[in-house]
Amino acid sequence: MTRITVAKGDGIGPEIMDATLEIIKAAGAKIEIDEIQVGEQVYLSGNTSGIANESWDVIRKNKIFLKAPITTPQGGGYKSLNVTTRKFLGLYSNVRPCMSLHPFVATKHPKMDIVIVRENEEDLYAGIEHQQTDEVVQCLKIISRPGCEKIVRYAFEYAKQYGRKKVTCFTKDNIMKQSDGLFHQVFDEIASEYPEIENEHWIIDIGAAKMADTPEVFDVIVTLNLYGDVLSDIAAQIAGSVGLAGSANIGEECAMFEAIHGSAPRRAGQNLANPSGLLQGAVMMLNHIGQTETAEKVQNAWLKTIEDGIHTYDIFKEGVSTQKVGTKEFAHAVIANLGNKPRTLQPVNYANGAALNLPKYSRKAPKKKELVGVDVFVHWNGTDPNELAIKIQKLNSEKIKLTMITNRGIKVWPDGFEETFCTDHWRCRFKPTTGNEIEKNNIISILNDAIDQNIDTIKTENLYNFDGKAGFSLGQGQ
Ligand code: NAD
Repeated sequence: MTRITVAKGDGIGPEIMDATLEIIKAAGAKIEIDEIQVGEQVYLSGNTSGIANESWDVIRKNKIFLKAPITTPQGGGYKSLNVTTRKFLGLYSNVRPCMSLHPFVATKHPKMDIVIVRENEEDLYAGIEHQQTDEVVQCLKIISRPGCEKIVRYAFEYAKQYGRKKVTCFTKDNIMKQSDGLFHQVFDEIASEYPEIENEHWIIDIGAAKMADTPEVFDVIVTLNLYGDVLSDIAAQIAGSVGLAGSANIGEECAMFEAIHGSAPRRAGQNLANPSGLLQGAVMMLNHIGQTETAEKVQNAWLKTIEDGIHTYDIFKEGVSTQKVGTKEFAHAVIANLGNKPRTLQPVNYANGAALNLPKYSRKAPKKKELVGVDVFVHWNGTDPNELAIKIQKLNSEKIKLTMITNRGIKVWPDGFEETFCTDHWRCRFKPTTGNEIEKNNIISILNDAIDQNIDTIKTENLYNFDGKAGFSLGQGQ
């Protein structure tokens, strides 16, 4: 028996949850349920996170959470329960299978069978944003080695466990050499530990285009948070099955399983909704908790039901479907098919068991870290970079001097182009006058002198070499 936490959510949530639980129990799932309330009522009772503290206790105790979609009330101030749950529980991996069910569900891509493994905690979603000048705001893209290692290893272990042949990494490391570069580098390192699984890397733009055009060439895709967010919705849509897809959010301790769609409030309470998305989430949950036989039985019965043409309104199509059913009747049809396998669609085989072998991250020996300069960001309303350079050069000292100014990343001094458009946000790069290293005190001196010179410094970024290799990018055009 595994004790799980269940939230029935809002809108169509309760109906699809009841249907899902009925199916998996009929298939023999060994689960005990603690139910909690999340979503609209909790938000409207004044709790801006949509979940009560006692409910966190239940989720943390049981560790496995099956969640129906919720309605986030309109208006400001309500925090996304999904984002909070992922980050609080360290659910670093978002796994979303996107498979077409041709010819039973309409799709332009009959052979598509992709699993997107999306990093779930980092990237631009760390939510660290600042306005620094009148004209410029920033959002920090945070990428960590443990974050990359955990997600990439998860993708390869998943591929191994489920007999997948290839893992493709999508990044934009031709532009973001440090952040996406780290993700790609870690991908190459970990891929080499799995010689039996093919690996490849695509630049995200052309890779996404390829996926939208010829998804059958991809198998498992691993990528960073933002790209994965966009890509997984495209993948679900072109598989023809946004309403049919489930997703798993996996952490080292806890995991949350759900449908990818929302609470469809207009369909609520009418026995209309398709429970398949949540059922797919539940199948992933059963695999995750080691009840693989039950997961396999449910999945094959579900595929057979789709194949029988027993369809809810959202996928019903004259000529393909045989029977239009409601939520409950669909669930009963799946139950009646338990023990059956699909004939046209590929039956699943989860016999290998599902416990992925995921070692805890172990920190590597620190590298030699040298402070080799500093970028001082300045709010300045002028337009001529040469004029700014004259002001900033007053901050030069024996130890450290201005070497470059960029505006939005592009070098504007020395030897900038007049045509380059400039905002009020300037990065001034200081490097040592002699030798390679500077000291933190040199930076403090710059900032002190800037106060005297009436220069508005808004932030600094230290420039480090790690084992002699630059840990910062050059200015564009440098
Ligand atoms: P939605 O996914 O609820 O609905 C989009 C469309 O798909 C609607 O036409 C709906 O009727 C249909 N649909 C969705 N699921 C279906 C199902 N199982 N069976 C049949 N038809 C289905 O998206 P939305 O309308 O943009 O959002 C509604 C609410 O859901 C919002 O409050 C939103 O914040 C919330 N939402 C929650 C989650 C979540 O809890 N994970 C995810 C997305 C949206």
